[in-house]
Amino acid sequence: MRPLYEETSRRAIEYIESLKTRPVAPTDAAVRDTEAFDHDLGEGPTDPLDVLRQLDEIGSPATIAMAGPRFFGFVIGGALPVTVASNWLSTAWDQNTGSYLTASTAVPEKVALRWLLELLRLPPECEGGFVSGATMANFTALAAARGAVLKNAGWNVEAEGLFGAPAITVVVGEEAHPTLLKSLGMLGLGRSRVRRCPVDGQGRMIPDQLPAFDGPVIVCTQAGNINTGAFDPIGEIADRVHEKGGWVHVDGAFGLWAAAAPERAHLCAGMERADSWATDGHKWLNVPYDNGFAFVRDGEALRSALAITAEYLPPPSAERFPADTTPELSRRGRGVDVWAALKHLGRRGVGEMIERCCRHASRFAEGFKEAGYEVLNDVVLNQVLISFGEPDVTDAVIERIQIDGTCWCGGTDWQGRHAMRISVCSWATTEEDVELSLAAILRVAGEIIRSN
Ligand SMILES: *Cc1c(COP(=O)(O)O)cnc(C)c1O
Repeated sequence: MRPLYEETSRRAIEYIESLKTRPVAPTDAAVRDTEAFDHDLGEGPTDPLDVLRQLDEIGSPATIAMAGPRFFGFVIGGALPVTVASNWLSTAWDQNTGSYLTASTAVPEKVALRWLLELLRLPPECEGGFVSGATMANFTALAAARGAVLKNAGWNVEAEGLFGAPAITVVVGEEAHPTLLKSLGMLGLGRSRVRRCPVDGQGRMIPDQLPAFDGPVIVCTQAGNINTGAFDPIGEIADRVHEKGGWVHVDGAFGLWAAAAPERAHLCAGMERADSWATDGHKWLNVPYDNGFAFVRDGEALRSALAITAEYLPPPSAERFPADTTPELSRRGRGVDVWAALKHLGRRGVGEMIERCCRHASRFAEGFKEAGYEVLNDVVLNQVLISFGEPDVTDAVIERIQIDGTCWCGGTDWQGRHAMRISVCSWATTEEDVELSLAAILRVAGEIIRSN
């Protein structure tokens, strides 16, 4: 085994070292070459070293440098070196973290939960589920919400299902993330039967325009709009909804992290008055993929929705049973990477990482404005929307910058306007990366506008 693992770590290290200088997007040829993965499954074995060599030689050139310092697409992060390493080690452990028997993963997870609640300024009594990302975090928290509001109406949804249950009014903002709607659909609450609350010019729900509701109600708010970075007035909404005995959920896939940065925490003011929160580890905390958290103030509601009992599992005990809080039973020890990231960064380091990304976003906005381009959003967090004029010009800039390879930015539509979207989420991005990227985008935009 040793040659296999040593050779693989050598190749992985070489890849990671290339991230600073490789073009962010792969060449068309490299992407085409991945067809070499596709052949008939042979009868016999292939030597593991040969398998790994093929993965590296075919796969690595076709990667997008998402883990590098100049990837500004979507809203995703890189992976802190300490978490890449912890991920390798915990993969070697291969502990099934469904139960508390696996102390090497279950204990770091329990501790990471406490640290996260403290960092994100959430109620310390929250229970939390370590899930695969914010989609599943929304699903998990909303499963607890569904059970709790129906329990209050005298219905046990876990036992009886939704047929014949009292109707739940579900309210979302006009700007709810599509994965939130997907989660509602998976819970039988419907992607389309939701009531929508109008939003303002930054995408924030307008509390005065919340639809009227009575009876069981779940209101889904957002901390961090994927285009503008704006926050719903969550505290105000929570007060109104709690008056009627409802449940308030916060989709804070990346925005929740503002609470950990002293200069941004004001954006989250009142957020702690909600009932459940979803966020990602693999975005702004910069841990490897397959990492998100559902926090629920009423731990009993979360366990009622998700706990199982089985004869072969350890008996209920005072110990936190990880699978009581997640949709899946068997899974990797996700909390290990979280523990490693937080232990490495410390409270101040997390805040500085968040703040640094926001500063970079502001610098981008300032650079575009100085060059005479329009920034469409108030840059309060890490998101910047830029228009280069007509939609086809903006599209051409996006296409050309992706081919250019200095950095990677995507496009979006924001309230009827087409825009380039820059999202700064990576621990690795430096001021120099921002200047390099800004110069490249301005150069490309200038070329396109002159040739038009
Ligand atoms: C990214 C994102 C999600 C989905 O998270 P995944 O980790 O991709 O499942 C949900 N809501 C918001 C606001 C997001 O930014």
